[in-house]
Amino acid sequence: MNEVASAGLIAGAALLGLWMIRRTLVEPLDRISSAVRAISEGSEKTVRLRGGPFLRRLADAVGDLSEQVAEMRRAARDESLNLRTILSNMSEGVLIADQGSRIRLANEGLRRMFHLSESPINRTLLEVFLSHSLQRAVTAALLEGTPQVREIEHNVKEQDHYRRRFFHMTASAVTPRGREAPMAVVVVFHDVTKLKELETVRQEFVANVSHELRTPLAIINGYLETLLDGAIEDHDLARGFLKTMLKHGQRLNLLIEDLLTLSKLETLGVFMESDPVSVKDVVHRVIDQLHPRIESTSAEVELRIDPGLPSIRADALRLEQLFFNLIDNALKYSGPRPRVTVEIAQISEDRIRAAVRDNGPGIPLLDQPHIFERFYRVRKDRSRDAGGTGLGLSIVKHITQAHGGRVWVESHPGHGASFFVELPLAGPKSVAAVEEESNEIPGLA
Ligand code: ADP
Repeated sequence: MNEVASAGLIAGAALLGLWMIRRTLVEPLDRISSAVRAISEGSEKTVRLRGGPFLRRLADAVGDLSEQVAEMRRAARDESLNLRTILSNMSEGVLIADQGSRIRLANEGLRRMFHLSESPINRTLLEVFLSHSLQRAVTAALLEGTPQVREIEHNVKEQDHYRRRFFHMTASAVTPRGREAPMAVVVVFHDVTKLKELETVRQEFVANVSHELRTPLAIINGYLETLLDGAIEDHDLARGFLKTMLKHGQRLNLLIEDLLTLSKLETLGVFMESDPVSVKDVVHRVIDQLHPRIESTSAEVELRIDPGLPSIRADALRLEQLFFNLIDNALKYSGPRPRVTVEIAQISEDRIRAAVRDNGPGIPLLDQPHIFERFYRVRKDRSRDAGGTGLGLSIVKHITQAHGGRVWVESHPGHGASFFVELPLAGPKSVAAVEEESNEIPGLA
């Protein structure tokens, strides 16, 4: 073999060697390194590599690793998706604050609850809520490691005004596994404004009832004492006292009856019947019941009832109570010679409207929005003298609403008052429907 040939052979062998190295080492290493890069960059694809004779074990190990990483990534993503879905569907407001009281996470419920126009993320609790009580609760939760329960007030911006709202909140420290000290605090808020308002209404109601009951009782007791102190010997005087006591006793009775009626009605028409009722007959019965008052005040009562008025489905007794209160008020509050008109007509395919008008002094504009509230009276003395309990219009409103209707007043002070009631022909709605429609706080009216 000459030298040229052997040099060629050596070069050929070297080339082959290089090619072999490239195929068995360089290329598999390249594939392995790009697979490792892809994993580190977040790829969830699993890779199976051919490692050649020398790198098979490394390639298999990388392949196994890629599978495990992909699985872990999928699990983490599912978990965070679940957490996010749960948080965003919660009606409670939830936030997570770090040790520096900076908000790191907040759900939609929180933004809705506090009407937050800007994202609270990365802002401090004090900046967003201006509440030292909240700040102290979060600090205490971090320091003590026990959940802190507080109630905070916050002025929530609603359209163009601020409304004071109350929130019940629990701040709980979060200590990651393997750590000793808490790293963050989860705060959960419940809006308890409605409950608070109900509580206030309840307290006012109890105070009002006690006051209303106490007044006639005190008067009766006063007269009893005077009688026992000797006034009983003076028959004429005693008779006068007894008459007054009887009047106040009757007032107490009326008050208790009205309170019971209201309490029944507040269970939202549970006892509402739904029978075909002639409203005309109802009004005639009421006029009969009020005959003594009409006579004694020489009142003029005019009925303008549409002759073709259809019967409606209603609770006849409750409807009687409704018209009794309205016509009785018209007679009570319209001065020396009351003139009262009752008009009833069908106003659409499915509704009738009744109007009870009088020629009295009317109702001041400022009082009009309140007169359907319990115990609201324009002139307390006048109402009491007239035997009123302050509950009549509240009862009217409840009965109307339980029938799916509406009631309102129109009055130009000095020119009488007109009370309107609209009722559907179809009668009382289901309890659930009435509850849904009534956005008001039960018990306020
Ligand atoms: P009351 O038992 O005092 O009559 P109501 O709830 O029936 O209670 O009425 C509330 C208040 O509304 C009354 O105290 C009275 O001041 C006013 N009011 C009701 N009806 C009339 C009316 N027709 N004209 C003037 N004021 C009225």
